[in-house]
Amino acid sequence: MPPKIGINGYGTIGKRVADAVAAQDDMRLAGVAKTKPDFEAKLAVRKGYAVYAANKDALAKFEKAGIKAAGILDDLVREVDLVVDCTPEDSGYKPLYEKAGVKAIWQGGEEHSLTNLSFNAAANYADCLGAPFVRVPSCNTTGLIRTLYPLDAHVGVEKVLAVMVRRATDPGDSKKGPINAIEPELEMPSHHGPDVQSVLPDLDIHTIAVKVPTTIMHLHTLAVDLKKSADATQILDVWKRFPRITLVSGGDGVKSTAQIMEMARDLSRSRSDLYEIAVWRDGVHVVDGKRLYYFQAVHQESDVVPENIDAIRAMLELEKDGRKSMEKTDRSLGIGIAK
Ligand code: NAD
Repeated sequence: MPPKIGINGYGTIGKRVADAVAAQDDMRLAGVAKTKPDFEAKLAVRKGYAVYAANKDALAKFEKAGIKAAGILDDLVREVDLVVDCTPEDSGYKPLYEKAGVKAIWQGGEEHSLTNLSFNAAANYADCLGAPFVRVPSCNTTGLIRTLYPLDAHVGVEKVLAVMVRRATDPGDSKKGPINAIEPELEMPSHHGPDVQSVLPDLDIHTIAVKVPTTIMHLHTLAVDLKKSADATQILDVWKRFPRITLVSGGDGVKSTAQIMEMARDLSRSRSDLYEIAVWRDGVHVVDGKRLYYFQAVHQESDVVPENIDAIRAMLELEKDGRKSMEKTDRSLGIGIAK
């Protein structure tokens, strides 16, 4: 019988991870836990997912709203082999999972210190085999690791400066901003640099972040000092050997994040998600042999989803080989568009 997976927190990330778990043949979605009996809860019921209320108070609200809950979070946690916690940061469920003796994955809103193990399938799958608690870093951090790890492994990276232009909020959110301003993150480095080092501890990286009024993607500008000389073609060849990186071209009309999201819609992916990091092929420049510049775009709502699936496989030791897990996940999600 495949292991049972529960999802705690059914928002932007939780609902995507739930669908991705349901698409695998070596794990089973046991249910999802939610605080509110809102439209997302109703749609989860329509999909046939077992919906659990976060606690007894929430259960009463579910009953009042006419949603038949399968129980409360504690019931779900007792039933499963692993919980993917997709609640907002600091929701504080670790003691519950520890008490139940259940494995758990958290998302990037949490600190690395919660698990002391942060995951990226290409970079450190083997380190997470059998682990009880793992964190999948944020969308931006995952995006940085996706392209920097291959460069470091195959060319060598001396130093990185990454400037991140961050989306203000997600498309489904009407509360956060800015809506008419550009907001620099005054902390230096932004938390993303140390976060990348939670997976790649030896990478010398400095990050700067700015928030802008868009909801669809983040855009990263990177300046990388390489250890060995390489030209743009060699750099692109390195990325072509790695999954979850897709090359786009300004020459083909992909001038901005708007066209990248249009491309994702044209691919008919679930929710128009783009799990891959999109790198502009014609935005890759090498100066004096060793200074590389490039741009990449990150679909914040979905790039961490395949990482969560691989983290489940590593922690439950369903597959020892990270590359094979990634291939399996990618097949199930339709990842692997033409480079
Ligand atoms: P979200 O607000 O869209 O969803 C959170 C869900 O958890 C909601 O369904 C909410 O009702 C529920 N919830 C709130 N408090 C809860 C509680 N105490 N117990 C149980 N459920 C509770 O948030 P999100 O964007 O999906 O973020 C979840 C995590 O994923 C955070 O750590 C975040 O930093 C991380 N993350 C978010 C993004 C993104 O772009 N949205 C990308 C990568 C990682």
